[in-house]
Amino acid sequence: MADIIQLLPDHVANQIAAGEVVQRPASVVKELLENAIDAESTNIKLIVKDAGKTLIQIIDDGKGMSVTDARLSFERHATSKIRTAEDLFSLNTKGFRGEALASIAAIAHVELKTKQEQDELGTQIEIEGSEVKTQDVVVTPKGTSLAVKHLFFNIPARRNFLKSNNVELRHIVDEFHRVALAHPDIAFVMFHNGSESFNLPKSNYRQRIVNIFGGKTKEKLVPVEEETEVLKISGFVGKPEFARKTRTEQFFFVNNRFIKSAYLNHAINAAFEGLLKDGGHPSYFLNLTVDPKTIDINIHPTKTEIKFDDEHTLYAIIRSSVKHSLGQFNIAPVLDFDRDKNLDTPYNYEGKRVSNPSVEVDRSFNPFQEEKSPSKSGSFSTPYKKEPASQWESLYVGLESKGTKTTQEFSEIQLESEPGNEPLFNENSIEVKQTTYQLHNKYIISTIKSGILIIDQQRAHQRVLYEGLLKHTTVKEAVSQQLLFPLQLQFSSSEMELLQQLKEDLEHTGFVFSKFEGGIIEITGVPVNVPESEVSIILEQLISDVEQEVPDSNFSSTDLLAKSLSKSLAIKTGQSLTNMEQEHLLNSLFACKEPSVSPTNRTTFITMNVDDFDKKFM
Ligand code: ADP
Ligand code: MG
Repeated sequence: MADIIQLLPDHVANQIAAGEVVQRPASVVKELLENAIDAESTNIKLIVKDAGKTLIQIIDDGKGMSVTDARLSFERHATSKIRTAEDLFSLNTKGFRGEALASIAAIAHVELKTKQEQDELGTQIEIEGSEVKTQDVVVTPKGTSLAVKHLFFNIPARRNFLKSNNVELRHIVDEFHRVALAHPDIAFVMFHNGSESFNLPKSNYRQRIVNIFGGKTKEKLVPVEEETEVLKISGFVGKPEFARKTRTEQFFFVNNRFIKSAYLNHAINAAFEGLLKDGGHPSYFLNLTVDPKTIDINIHPTKTEIKFDDEHTLYAIIRSSVKHSLGQFNIAPVLDFDRDKNLDTPYNYEGKRVSNPSVEVDRSFNPFQEEKSPSKSGSFSTPYKKEPASQWESLYVGLESKGTKTTQEFSEIQLESEPGNEPLFNENSIEVKQTTYQLHNKYIISTIKSGILIIDQQRAHQRVLYEGLLKHTTVKEAVSQQLLFPLQLQFSSSEMELLQQLKEDLEHTGFVFSKFEGGIIEITGVPVNVPESEVSIILEQLISDVEQEVPDSNFSSTDLLAKSLSKSLAIKTGQSLTNMEQEHLLNSLFACKEPSVSPTNRTTFITMNVDDFDKKFM
């Protein structure tokens, strides 16, 4: 009998593949939005006509394509994103299968315009049903525009299966939301039949959610933050009383990719147990960050289902973090899980803030004062002068009474002492030898009696600044640095409102305002260690940090301000420090009340014992 097996022609193979990738107009929207994001765009515009049946166009300002790449991008399995199968386990991009453009081009009329930054002219390609019709050189801005017309023009059965415009548009909007929520740092606009449906400027996560789901959403969001070795969670859950009848506000993102997971959804429902009325679905907007090695995204063509290595652990962490958040914001009546001490806020300055401080502080101490930093970098101007060990005793004045618990804890850490040096605190001696080393411009290493001490420089400095700032705001005494010319900054009315709440605290840190109205803030003085060039960034960061907070919860503006400023002003990972700076940071850290964690409760230092080393050398 004659051979009967034939290889399918490419365009037929592409049409079959398209069936998997492109089920409806919304699938095209998703793929094209993802390509625009992978191209590192900062502005993305989606234009839709007749629910995508007539036109879907995406215009981005990303990196664009060369002439050759423009042509190649429509080939099946043509991708710039992976090279080997191993790359699948370290994915940082949305796409990787190299199928989307080939599939779309097989079942629609496609017009591509693209240009790279460095090129004078761009490339235009028109394809209909996998067939290239034209290829030209065009004048077009940097980035890519891809227009998809007459979807399923050559597969009438598919076209007839499409639902009403309302339904198809709903699907498109859903995809648009998912992508926009995963990327608040990118600006998106969407037009349908000529009118603007969404305009989402670049913003923080909370603001993005509010921009999409409306101002009412604002009051119902409770932040969820947790970081463990296997998983980082950040985002929001809706307060139980706002639970909805539908599941429309449930979003999980894993490494910035929207996913569906009934199992993880169950974890959230478990956290809300007993808090919801019958039939209510909690809202959630949660970003999970995991090591790409521990997930497999490749199991589903549209990549919305993924496989986790260790789902059980994720379940437990998600459930307890959400529960914790609901508890922390006094939403859940009783908490029945073990709280990690590290999750508690060490400072509760509520009620204490501007009224008579009970803590007596050494008024001569000012971490911002003194000579200029030896560092060349302008942003690191906190004085890092080597002080004789006895001098930082003064930093403890008035703090002993409060900090007994931590003092005990950290008394276990005894810095190695030099012979002949008088111990400072009798048996709780913490004494610094002259030797510190900086590792990878990130960690400061020092020897202690029991072994070595490793300090995260950025977090440690945040802690030091944070406590300094809290002191200043509570005693209302800070040193200000006069600006030569007043600095004028503009803010929106909602931003002004926020800043107004913080004005007094800001003044206690050293800011001097000469005008604070009509959208304009005029600044004539700034705290001593704040470079003028960074003032606007610092205030913007502050606004964004306040927006992340839930205003009606345990909101302490002093604490928030101190957290935000310490974050903005701290030396960063990557900054090299002189020996003196390293030592001063170390000393200042251990003069803090809570040296072991950063203001956001992250570990500032670890120790390793000689025993640990001994074991390794066995
Ligand atoms: P994948 O995204 O899986 O790589 P696609 O078929 O979606 O496959 O895209 C193929 C290739 O075309 C991409 O790998 C990328 O190099 C290029 N490309 C697609 N869209 C864009 C865009 N908007 N900007 C720049 N390059 C793009
Ligand atoms: Mg793609």
